[in-house]
Amino acid sequence: MNRKIFIYANDSEMSRKTEKNLKQKLDSSGFTLLPSYRADADLLVCIGGDGTFLEVIHRFDFPPMPIIGINTGHLGFFQEIMPSMLDDFIFNYSQGRYSIQQLSTVKIAVKTKEGISQHVGLNEVIIKGQSTCSVHLNISIGGSFIERFSGDGLLIATPAGSTAYNYSLGGSIVDPRLNILQVTPIAPMNTTAYRSFTSSILLPSDLSLGVVTDAGSKQEGLSVVYDGYTADYAEIEEIEVSFSDTLVNLMRFENYDFWTKVKSKFL
Ligand code: NAP
Ligand code: MN
Repeated sequence: MNRKIFIYANDSEMSRKTEKNLKQKLDSSGFTLLPSYRADADLLVCIGGDGTFLEVIHRFDFPPMPIIGINTGHLGFFQEIMPSMLDDFIFNYSQGRYSIQQLSTVKIAVKTKEGISQHVGLNEVIIKGQSTCSVHLNISIGGSFIERFSGDGLLIATPAGSTAYNYSLGGSIVDPRLNILQVTPIAPMNTTAYRSFTSSILLPSDLSLGVVTDAGSKQEGLSVVYDGYTADYAEIEEIEVSFSDTLVNLMRFENYDFWTKVKSKFL
């Protein structure tokens, strides 16, 4: 079985131990272990928590091959197996007893005087102020002006990211089989001075969200945060948030069920 596998582990003692253990087992099962990441690897193994998973996704620019997560971290929502299940994993993988869960991503295009920069998030992208002042953003959906948002910012979550920051903000948990984007306000103001939606809104995959800073308000720069990574912009002309074609392929085994996982992690 000459499949090429690359293993990425975080620095925790448990992860290092698991990595060493897994390397020995894969080697004696006849797999080829790659010393560094290559886009033609057959499988990427990520050892750590969700944070490590997001790190691997961004470090290697959304790897195209299947990824299996081994949870040595805290929550481990993306992670499929525990370090105690290495033999089962190798057996099931060798036998082809797995399925691929395709996770959709969200992209944000930021237009400035210098041009357009783009970022992709697996969990979410966030548009917020750089200071503690509120932001005022004119929001359009599918090209039509909808609202002038006032508050801390806006979070646009993928279904996979709906259980992360989105959930802490009161957003809904979304089954990843649905192709939608969830726009969740962060501390929206709703007074006689300012009016904004106070609940999340859901968009179909073919509608995009347009954002321009409100010309009437004195606005400092904005930060765009994608999966915890920040990009600061001094002057933005326009932002567009939309569904991205980039997919993340997660390896799941027979007993994987999204809602069982939600229950085990949240209730
Ligand atoms: P972190 O601050 O260590 O992560 C916060 C928690 O979110 C960790 O417990 C992490 O799991 C968990 N998490 C990440 N993705 C998840 C998902 N898709 N579903 C459920 N839980 C998830 O930072 P990080 O580990 O680098 O993760 C970055 C993410 O943190 C961001 O994408 C954002 O969604 C989230 N975040 C949440 C809040 C909040 O809830 N108030 C604030 C900022 C950022 P592990 O313990 O397994 O790493
Ligand atoms: Mn973390």
